[in-house]
Amino acid sequence: MLFIKKSAIDKKLQIIANKRHEHADKLISDDRENGMMTEETLSFSQSVDRMVERALDVIEIDEGIASALKSCNSVIQVRFPVQIKGKIEVFTGWRAVHSTHRLPAKGGIRYAPYADQDEVEALAALMTYKCAIVDVPFGGSKGALLIDPRNYSRDEMQLITRRFTLELVRKGFLSPATNVPAPDVGTGQREMSWMADTYKHLHPEDVNYLACVTGKPVHHGGIRGRTEATGRGVQFVIQEFFRHPDDVQKANLKGSLGDQKIIMQGLGNVGYYASKFLSEEDGATIICVVERDGLLYNESGLDIESIHQYIIENKTIKGYTEAQFDENGAKGLELDCDILIPAALEAQITIENAGRIKARLIVEAANGPVTYQADEVLNKKGTTILPDAYVNAGGVTVSYFEWIRNLSHIRFGRMQRRQDEMRNQQYVSMLEEITGTSISERTKNTLKDGANEIDIVRSGLDDTMRHAYQEIREIYLNNEKIRDYRTAAYVLAVTKIARSYTDIGIY
Ligand code: GLU
Repeated sequence: MLFIKKSAIDKKLQIIANKRHEHADKLISDDRENGMMTEETLSFSQSVDRMVERALDVIEIDEGIASALKSCNSVIQVRFPVQIKGKIEVFTGWRAVHSTHRLPAKGGIRYAPYADQDEVEALAALMTYKCAIVDVPFGGSKGALLIDPRNYSRDEMQLITRRFTLELVRKGFLSPATNVPAPDVGTGQREMSWMADTYKHLHPEDVNYLACVTGKPVHHGGIRGRTEATGRGVQFVIQEFFRHPDDVQKANLKGSLGDQKIIMQGLGNVGYYASKFLSEEDGATIICVVERDGLLYNESGLDIESIHQYIIENKTIKGYTEAQFDENGAKGLELDCDILIPAALEAQITIENAGRIKARLIVEAANGPVTYQADEVLNKKGTTILPDAYVNAGGVTVSYFEWIRNLSHIRFGRMQRRQDEMRNQQYVSMLEEITGTSISERTKNTLKDGANEIDIVRSGLDDTMRHAYQEIREIYLNNEKIRDYRTAAYVLAVTKIARSYTDIGIY
């Protein structure tokens, strides 16, 4: 019977996860006593904690606040039955709230066959730091459903998603004011619109119901530019890095962004948009794309759009003829390049392969792609790393814009666009009159246009990513105890969060 089998599997998975953590804790304390550490001893959340502790070590912060800051505020596990093809299946999901110093708590929900509570807690913590780094006034949260979406039809996914949403709403883990999910690995616009619709049916009196999730389709209350936001943010981060020649030189890189050879791991939503923008708009060369089933390599550059189309049609990169294919994808991370962008999952660069990474700069587009100990190895090697909690914050930044749009019930630019256009038109005419020359139609149009929603979103995102980089850089350059951007970013985050604890007090 599927019902019995499924819940037995779930139970087993939970026992394995608990055992793993117990085992990890034990090994850590043993290793600490023996003065040594090994990679297998750290779970994802422990790895994140270690990185944060490194930052806490260089600043003076009350010990109580430091431990309040690190601990996960609450986490629920839900199990719910859904009838699929006449049989009942029981699904397991989690939602963790890491911090509530700002509300709502914010973060994606992933659908994955490997999800577990530790991963969800680690990702919720990353959301807290991420929001603080880019000044998005939210707490941190994350959710997951243990499922392989490839095994279910669209209608089944809808049923499961609506049932999961019901659980989250009923238990107070989803609402516009307190906890706002978004897309993550394995989820997208369609899941978000089902969630918003389910919430609306449960709370028709809530005038702000659309703000209960972000990442919705534009015609269902979403915002233009949200789908590409994380990838666009990665591009803005790298552009900003190359505006600082000292930083470029320190990373042992030469030339401008257009001169760089890049390896991209993962051509999902984030990796696809980041590679597309970096190659098509900045002229960088994507020499290698690493996917689940292998790698594609071309020294003179890959055509991202055509690979993307090929993946959509064939669900694999195998058989793509415009580049060299190798089944050993992991090898791709170790090839010679200027910039390596891990944009897939956590723990891709570990103590096992860190020593062989040749990239001068690693830009963490995924959450947690480099483990704590790999990070230590890479720091020693002199590899520059721009950390996840900053690099992939473009998604939550535009989610913040979407949330504001939903609360204000109006599209950005709607009130002033035509007014701006009229004013600009007057300036152009005045300029022509004063100079006695006529301006070309093309230039006239560019000068005249008022900003529409996508322009405003991009400008807000660009400003956010630049500003955060400058804040991180300032800390990095002005504290001699800080040797890496990750520690600087965490110093920035914990300082801001601790300030809000000390200003308001612990309640
Ligand atoms: N899932 C994305 C992240 O990990 C977006 C979160 C959000 O927009 O709330 O940052």
